[in-house]
This record gives sequence, structure tokens and C-alpha cells, in this order.
Amino acid sequence: MDNLREMLTTMSPEEFRAAARDRELEEWRSINRFCGKCGSLMEPHANTDERAMVCSKCGYTAYPKLSPAVIVLVTKGDKILLQRNTHYKLRNWTLVAGFVDAGENFEDAVRREVMEEASVEVKDLRYFGSQTWPFPSNIMVGFRAEYASGELTPDGEEVVESGWFDRDNLPEIPHKGSIARQMIDDWLREQK
Ligand SMILES: [Zn+2]
Repeated sequence: MDNLREMLTTMSPEEFRAAARDRELEEWRSINRFCGKCGSLMEPHANTDERAMVCSKCGYTAYPKLSPAVIVLVTKGDKILLQRNTHYKLRNWTLVAGFVDAGENFEDAVRREVMEEASVEVKDLRYFGSQTWPFPSNIMVGFRAEYASGELTPDGEEVVESGWFDRDNLPEIPHKGSIARQMIDDWLREQK
């Protein structure tokens, strides 16, 4: 798994998407060997064009599932919000990100994650783009947002350090290939 994460920095986007698809399908098959409803053996769908696993007993059908996560570049004037998370092995700084919860839309998830991790409110949300994120089966949905109010405070659990950075004082940022880096590079191009 870590291999693919490292390869992200050198692969073309097309190569990465193909590798991600293989990884996600492998993960999907491995967690759908038995039916989630009745525990019986699952079999590939009779129609091989149909990408689905079907329960041999109750007929429950499982399609590949993705878990969406949001990632957000928060701007405040000519600065952006970057933070260091405890669970990252790499010590670089990154953007606020987190999983979409049950009952939420993407915008709700953006506002909640920024509030939980950084204690600030945001406004003017704009869609940026998305990226397949096969670790193991996620899709990252990127947004830009503007600071609205609040005092930036790391939550102390997931986030150990956070700050506002302008283009001339950026700390170590995420590696090329990640959507986080694309969002930061995109913002940097505007800071002329
Ligand atoms: Zn079943």
C-alpha cells in the first residue's frame, strides 16, 4: 500500500488512476467474500459485464463502494491555512481534510471539518476538483473556502500545529501528485 502512495509522486495521472482502480477492486473483492447480510458465500455476478458480487443464498448484491472525503484550501487574504497532523508519517504540512459523515453533503463536511480541526468558520465555498484516493477506497473532493471568523486553534488531537502562511513563508508542503499539492500550486499561481 505504501508503495502506491510513493509511486503517486512519479506516476502520470493516467497511470495512477489505473493503479488506483486495480487496488480498489482488489480491496472490494477481499471484503466481499461473504455476504454482509446473511454471511453466505458471495459469487461474481452471472453477467460478467456487471461489476458486482452476489450472495449465493439471499441474493444481496454488492457493488464497489467509495468513501468520499473532503479536502479544503482555506484562504485568509494572501495566506492559506496549513496544519500538521499527528497520524501522518511524513512531517510535511497539509490542508484540512476528513471523511463525509452520514447525512452530510460535501459543503457540510467542509464546514464541520474546518471547525473541528481548526476552530474557524469558512464562507464562499468553491469546488476545485477531485482525485481517486485508493488508501484503500476513497475519493478526495477538493474545495476552496475563505476564512469567515474564529481564532485558528489546532484541535490538539488530530492536528498538532496550524498556521496561516503566505507564498514567501511556506513550510514543507505535500508531495507532487496529491490533490493537496495541486490546490496549493493552483493558489500559488494566483499570487503574482
Ligand atoms: Zn446473503
